[in-house]
Amino acid sequence: MLDDVDLLVCGAGPVGCTIAERAAATLGWKVLVVERRPHVAGNCYDSIHSSGVRIHNYGPHYFRTNDEAVLRYLSRFTDWIPGNYVVKSLVNGRLLPFPINLTTLEQFFGCSLDTDAGRRLLDAKRQPIAQPANSEEMVLAKVGRELYEAFYLNYTLKQWGRHPRELAPSVCGRVPVRLNRDERYVDQRFQVMPKDGFTALFTRMLNHRKIRVLTRCDFREIQTLVKPRRATVYSGPIDAYFDHCLGRLPYRSLRFEFETEFVPYRQPCVQINYPNDHSWTRTVEIKHVTGQQHPHTVICYETPRSEGEPYYPVPAAAHQALYERYRDLAEVTTRRERVFFCGRLAQYRYFNTDEVIAEALQCFEKIKQLGSNSFLPSPTTTGRVPTSIAESSADCGRARARTEARRRRASSPRPTMA
Ligand SMILES: Cc1cc2nc3c(=O)[nH]c(=O)nc-3n(C[C@H](O)[C@H](O)[C@H](O)COP(=O)(O)OP(=O)(O)OC[C@H]3O[C@@H](n4cnc5c(N)ncnc54)[C@H](O)[C@@H]3O)c2cc1C
Repeated sequence: MLDDVDLLVCGAGPVGCTIAERAAATLGWKVLVVERRPHVAGNCYDSIHSSGVRIHNYGPHYFRTNDEAVLRYLSRFTDWIPGNYVVKSLVNGRLLPFPINLTTLEQFFGCSLDTDAGRRLLDAKRQPIAQPANSEEMVLAKVGRELYEAFYLNYTLKQWGRHPRELAPSVCGRVPVRLNRDERYVDQRFQVMPKDGFTALFTRMLNHRKIRVLTRCDFREIQTLVKPRRATVYSGPIDAYFDHCLGRLPYRSLRFEFETEFVPYRQPCVQINYPNDHSWTRTVEIKHVTGQQHPHTVICYETPRSEGEPYYPVPAAAHQALYERYRDLAEVTTRRERVFFCGRLAQYRYFNTDEVIAEALQCFEKIKQLGSNSFLPSPTTTGRVPTSIAESSADCGRARARTEARRRRASSPRPTMA
């Protein structure tokens, strides 16, 4: 198998599974997927906890989309149940609906409101900032200082380890503010959960006779052993691919702690945010959305941290600029070696699951155009590389050669065929 791989895929998350499935099912390509974790499904992974309760291991995943094509595509691999995504914030000792809606405004300001009165109230609170330059300004322009300090400021400090002033407007700006009583966490048209869970969904995608999956295997261990005939898809961190030769891209990590509670439900809804209390940002009782019938429940305490598994790219201008330098290298690598960079870590961008699957489907179309009629060209026959990129490329090439030599000297753990 290792001698006749058409497509090598790094990462068995949503991106890796989608591209592997498309390449095997529509082009008949032989695909090898390597995944360093012991399971597939990436951060969407769910599993049965020792208590018997299904959990989302890497934070709650609320599938929602306006993209019917993505929903139709995934529906080949799963049935759905309705998503019941309701979130409350603990503010001044009370659980208030979040995102902010009319009920939140009433309970926070202690008055009763209809839509017009709610709009007038917010108009009076808002700060006149025409073009918010950061997340603090964005929220002040939307809801004013009191709501900003109660719901956003400390939550953001905990979540990102940075002041909202240091973060792009979109970080806090994407949370809606509603002048109705809609309590749903998100606005998208389709809010659903895979009936048997995300792991089952992604496992079915990979269940094709032309796809092999190696878990507990780092891409870098296999990279020198497998030369794919058509292309490579890389969905790991882009800076790691280039041995961090331009510097490290910052990520925010999380600690997930799961506690069994010997009652059917502990919380009134799936998620409670703690903007001002505790070191954790939220508690999640995913049973509210999986719909599992079980006498016990599991609560996940989610605490942000700077070290550990990379979960969220940190959205700030300097990081974006560094990412763009890596992206230039990646573009050259795609042209020369047909390595396609796709996904949350490879594009250093926060994508929801539906968005990243749409990205993967687009990426597959590019791979198909480039790779379906020809085999990989020799690197020397590809286009001219601009000088600044060529210099960065040379530095990165040297860094990678050093790392590979080190890696060859070290003994590597045996990968597992899944
Ligand atoms: C805490 C949290 C909550 C989220 N909640 C939601 C939500 O509610 N709704 C929603 O739609 N989306 C949510 N998301 C986003 C969702 O997880 C992502 O959109 C999706 O997982 C991205 O898919 P991906 O394939 O790009 O990356 P990933 O899912 O991260 O998969 C990449 C895989 O590549 C593997 N990998 C990396 N480097 C290597 C290497 N060198 N060798 C081998 N394997 C490697 C990783 O182990 C990983 O399994 C959430 C994300 C997080 C972190």
